[in-house]
Amino acid sequence: MKAFTAEASPMSAQQTDDPVPNLLRDAMASVTIGFTIYDPQDRLVMCNEAYLGMYETSRDLIVPGTTFEEVVRKGAERGQYRQALGDVDGFVRERVKRHQNPTGKPFEQALDDGRWLLIVEHKTASGYLVGNRLDITAQKQAEHGLHLYANVFRHSGEALMVTDRNNCIVAINPAFARLTGYELAEIEGQNPRILSSGRTPVETYQQMWANLQSADFWQGELWDRRKDGSVYPKWVVISVIRDESGELTHHIASFTDISERKAAEERISHLAHHDALTGLFNRYSLQERLGQVMATAHRQHMPVAVMFIDMDRFKLINDTLGHDVGDQLLIEIAQRLRGSVRESDIVARLGGDEFVVVLAGMEAAFDVYPVASKILQRLGEPYDIGEHTLHTSPSIGVSVFPGDGDTVEQLMKNADAAMYHAKEQGRNNIQFFTMDMNVAALERLELERDLRTAIASGGLELHYQVQVCSVTLQACGVEALVRWSHPTRGMIPPLTFIPIAEECRLIDGLGAWVLDEGCRQLAAWQATGLGDIRMAINVSAQQLRSEQFVDQVRSTIAIHGIRPQDLELEITESVAMSDPQAAIRQLQALRDLGVQLAIDDFGTGYSSLAYLRQLPLNVLKIDRSFVKDIEVDGNNASISASILALAHSLGLKVVAEGVETAAQRDFLRERGCDYLQGFYFARPHAAARCREIIESLALPRPA
Ligand code: C2E
Ligand code: MG
Ligand code: MG
Repeated sequence: MKAFTAEASPMSAQQTDDPVPNLLRDAMASVTIGFTIYDPQDRLVMCNEAYLGMYETSRDLIVPGTTFEEVVRKGAERGQYRQALGDVDGFVRERVKRHQNPTGKPFEQALDDGRWLLIVEHKTASGYLVGNRLDITAQKQAEHGLHLYANVFRHSGEALMVTDRNNCIVAINPAFARLTGYELAEIEGQNPRILSSGRTPVETYQQMWANLQSADFWQGELWDRRKDGSVYPKWVVISVIRDESGELTHHIASFTDISERKAAEERISHLAHHDALTGLFNRYSLQERLGQVMATAHRQHMPVAVMFIDMDRFKLINDTLGHDVGDQLLIEIAQRLRGSVRESDIVARLGGDEFVVVLAGMEAAFDVYPVASKILQRLGEPYDIGEHTLHTSPSIGVSVFPGDGDTVEQLMKNADAAMYHAKEQGRNNIQFFTMDMNVAALERLELERDLRTAIASGGLELHYQVQVCSVTLQACGVEALVRWSHPTRGMIPPLTFIPIAEECRLIDGLGAWVLDEGCRQLAAWQATGLGDIRMAINVSAQQLRSEQFVDQVRSTIAIHGIRPQDLELEITESVAMSDPQAAIRQLQALRDLGVQLAIDDFGTGYSSLAYLRQLPLNVLKIDRSFVKDIEVDGNNASISASILALAHSLGLKVVAEGVETAAQRDFLRERGCDYLQGFYFARPHAAARCREIIESLALPRPA
């Protein structure tokens, strides 16, 4: 035994034969309890090694005969036991009190090095104070850990629930109470099934228990019910807790409310399956659903109709009035479509102005007709969008399963072909698919491809038709008309390929070529003595809208060195009308270049007089439908006469188109029409022939 024993120690007072004191000393030396004895004057009598180990730093102070107070004060001077002592005088007073009247109640002492001691003191009958000190640091740390875990449990943002081995609820945390509305008292001892809503599939629970059994773990989605009755989805993680012997003791479930995440997922899924603008199904959903509908119809031997719907002149509205108006129009069209069919029918938007309606559950194929007619009528009614009243109409193509195809692609393709046919038939009508249409659709595709090549490789040509002055009957100008001589199909009329060029965005290239070629020809004629002659060139709606168009005209004039006033640009009435403000701006910019502006095919659109007045025009061309039979058709005669009067009152020159007879010529001359154009004078011809015609008419001096 290394620890000292005081001479006065009762254990060492006399060396007797009695072995007990020595045994006691040895026993004290071998225990881990810090052992001390103080005499009635509070002087240290003895202590054991474990005690010295507990106060290692002041080992040298702890010597027999020293009073407890001395040890404490010296230790305090060295700065030891700051934690344990705190206020030294107070500590000493406490100690004196305890020495005189120890309670025997254990108390704890914290040491500077982080250790904790549990101290128990007893006073013997003879007035000695016996102290025991137990190092409880490990126990303290464990307690601290438990405290920490309890706090984690309490303050976790995730709802936590603990159930026992019988799956009865034993603990919940505040987040659980917040989420579910239940306090522990209300559900303690209950099975967690009281939380369920009945909405989670039975298979999910089966899966959950199977996983908990095999892997002690499960995570997944459950639909539960809150105390207030509301049902919500939650993401749950459950772990099984086992003791050292492997026995199941608890389940811990943590979960979060995933209502918001689910809602976001649903929104994303909706976006993936629906057209963002109209909320209708998109192409992907359409194909998926059409496939399902066809499979059912196949089993039930019933027809399915696919309707392709394309809005006539939509591009024009969209490009001229702007995309906002176009979008509003599409939304309105979608609403009308939905309102025209049953809830169970599929309505989709493929993009642009293309819609598809799928009708299932019909008794017979011809049942589609009344529905298609209703759609035709509804979509053809005027649309009030902002301050505009817009007119458009649908062209509808129909294919029917199984006769017109037994795959989704075939049915869609054939309905599309039928829709093109409806367009060719003058739009605003319904066409049912026939085999010939496939051929027509293919031909159109070929035509588009060939046109691309023709534009790129100089396969187009300009013909020129003279315009004569009605007074002198001499040529005063020509209109350039584009011609396409197809390598295998021969001459294709512009009314066939210009719409294709417009649809496929080939018109800018085509138009640029026409403008350049027309100006080049005019310069060539003027350079070779043809004198003052005007070149009229047709401009398509899309060209006019293009930002670069004004610059293009300016530079073309400059390149060929022609006078701006010798160039006349013909714009059709509908183009000028569809977006008045933009048209006025663009036309004014062209007028500022000094070129002449003509409104073509006048009378076929809906121009109002008031509006016409705002356009910076020079020339008005009366459409040939009014010139036809003008000498015998009273109606046409009066329309032409009033157009003439109107135009002159606005200071415009008038050209009559399609003059085919001497009678028409005379009628128009008598009513003061300024210029005449038509087969009566000359058909459109290639440049060389046209020049001969001009010369034969003898060149006039312009008015
Ligand atoms: P438009 O500008 O109204 O051209 C007049 C059309 O009437 C021409 O048809 C011409 O051949 C035809 N025509 C002229 N006189 C008579 C007549 O006495 N009787 C009859 N029945 N027809 C007559 P074309 O060349 O087939 O052109 C048709 C339309 O194609 C043009 O109508 C114009 O809108 C468009 N077009 C022609 N060339 C171009 C072009 O280079 N660019 C653009 N954007 N459009 C063009
Ligand atoms: Mg024209
Ligand atoms: Mg015309």
